[in-house]
Amino acid sequence: MNLWTRLLRWYDKNGRDLPWRKTRDPYRILVSEIMLQQTQVSRGLIFYDRWLQQFPDWKTLAKASNADVIKAWAGLGYNRRALMLRDIACQIVGTNRAVFARPHENRAVPETEAAWRELKGIGPYTAAAISAFALRQRTLPIDTNIRRVLGRLLFGTTYPQPTIDDKIRANVDRALPKRGRFYDVPQAIFDLATTHCTKVPTCATCPMRTVCPSAEKFLSGRVRVPKQMVKKAVESKHRDKKFPDRIYRGRILKHVRENGSVEIDEIGPVVDAGFDATVDRDWIIAMVRRMEKDGMLSYLGDRVTLPKNL
Ligand code: SF4
Repeated sequence: MNLWTRLLRWYDKNGRDLPWRKTRDPYRILVSEIMLQQTQVSRGLIFYDRWLQQFPDWKTLAKASNADVIKAWAGLGYNRRALMLRDIACQIVGTNRAVFARPHENRAVPETEAAWRELKGIGPYTAAAISAFALRQRTLPIDTNIRRVLGRLLFGTTYPQPTIDDKIRANVDRALPKRGRFYDVPQAIFDLATTHCTKVPTCATCPMRTVCPSAEKFLSGRVRVPKQMVKKAVESKHRDKKFPDRIYRGRILKHVRENGSVEIDEIGPVVDAGFDATVDRDWIIAMVRRMEKDGMLSYLGDRVTLPKNL
C-alpha cells in the first residue's frame, strides 16, 4: 500500500467531521480559513455557523459595515481578520470602499490559485487552501502542520524549519498523489498532525510508521526536542506592561463594543489594572488612534465608539 493510500484510509476512518470539509463553496472555505488563523478548531466551530447565518454569502458580507463585522467577530480575537474578510468580499462583489487604496472592478469569484493571490488580503497559504479544497486543484497549502508532517514523512527531517517549504513545493509529485483524492491529502495531514505527528510525535501508534523515515529516529529516543520550532514574532509592548499591545487593543474594542460610546479617559483603568494616567494616557490614545486608522473604532472629541460611517 503506498503512502497516500495508507494516509487516506486512516483519514476516512479517523478524520475530523468538520463543516467546512463538507462544502466546496469558496466563500465558506475562506471563512473557515480566516477564522482558523490564530484560532483553535474547537473555537472556530462555535463561530463558523453563527457567522454564516448572519453573512451567508459574498454579497451579504460585502454590504456589512465595520461595526457589523466587528460585533459578529466578538470573542474570536485578532479583529482585523473580520475587516479583512469583509474587504475580500467587497473585492469579489465589486463594491468600492474607502478602505481600499483604489476602486475595484467588478470581479467574479477567482477560479485559479493565481487569481486568488491577486486579491488584497489573500496570502499564498490561503490561496492554495481555497484552490485545494474548493477548486480541487493539485496544490499544497503549507502551514506549520503540513511542513512538520511532510518534512518528516518525505525527507526524514525530524524538526523541519520554514526553509524546507521550497523543497516540499519542488517535490509536489512526492507530496501529493497524481490522481484521485489529492485534494483530501492536506486535510488528512492536518489530522495526522494533531493526533500523532505532534511536536513530540507518537510514532509507535502512527498509521504511517512503517513508511516514515523519521519514525525510527524518534522511537530510538535520540532526537532532541528544540525549545522553539519557529521564531515568535516580536510584538510591541508598552513600558513594563504585562502583555503586548495586541491584548490591550482587544480589551479596548471589547469595552467599546459592550458600552457603545465611552470616554477616552475611562478606557485606561478598565483595560489595564496598573494604569497610571501620567505615563499611560498617551499610550491608550495612540492605540485608539491606530484602531481608528484600521477602521475598528471612531474617536471624536473625547468619545470613542465603533465606526459610524464605514
Ligand atoms: S511515524 Fe512519527 S514522524 Fe512519521 S508521520 Fe507518524 S508520527 Fe510523524
